[in-house]
Amino acid sequence: MDENDTTLRRTRLLAEITWPEVEEAIGQGAGVVLPVGSTEQHGHHLPLSTDAVLPTELALAIAEPLDLLVAPAVTYGYRSRPLSGGGQGFVGTTSLRASTLMALVEDVLRELIRQGFKRIVILNWHMENQNFVYEAAYLALERYRDSSARILVAELPFKDLSPETMDLLFPEGFPGWDVEHASIMETSLMLHLRPELVLFERAVDDEAKRHPWYDVVPTPEDFVPASGTLWKATQASEEKGRIAWREIVDQMRDAIALELA
Ligand SMILES: [Zn+2]
Repeated sequence: MDENDTTLRRTRLLAEITWPEVEEAIGQGAGVVLPVGSTEQHGHHLPLSTDAVLPTELALAIAEPLDLLVAPAVTYGYRSRPLSGGGQGFVGTTSLRASTLMALVEDVLRELIRQGFKRIVILNWHMENQNFVYEAAYLALERYRDSSARILVAELPFKDLSPETMDLLFPEGFPGWDVEHASIMETSLMLHLRPELVLFERAVDDEAKRHPWYDVVPTPEDFVPASGTLWKATQASEEKGRIAWREIVDQMRDAIALELA
């Protein structure tokens, strides 16, 4: 075995290797991905861990060619918003206040920088965590001004998908990513990646009676579909997941290769 062949790491999961292996990987220039998700209801058919499972799978999918390790995910996220996650009214949804999330992510980033990681990626899936993960990255690097560490902050896991893929996923028209919660895309990706976690026969199509451009506190009841699915989960398929996943993986790999070469 060639000791310098970084493709031969035992596993990409940071938590499953020993500290000398971490030290060796850092010495060889390995980077690290911090997946950030939530513990949040995802309708009748997807697990609470969906937003943590997907960024972890994405990190693992790009880890080898970019020589990245995958840190244990942050599996709690910011409060579920009614219009993009169903809100805090469901059992199972277990959330953090913004200040806790920011402090948690900042502390983990500081630890990764202290250990010597220079190429760091925050890979967030739960929409509500946006901005807070950016703030955590900003504050962590402010603390380590002399470090040459760089952090790529992916507040969302992808941008636009190709028109062909959008047509395949949303043949009746694209409803917006905010209602893509436990719906066609997330369900398709889970069917592709972790089918054993999906109770697809329980999937429903649903939608809020009202979905305005503003929010209201406390949450008006008609902002929230009863099932917790915000759009049409029954239109999901493994094939849709497979095709979308290929694009998502490519986009993320290209972004990291560009910024953290
Ligand atoms: Zn989700």
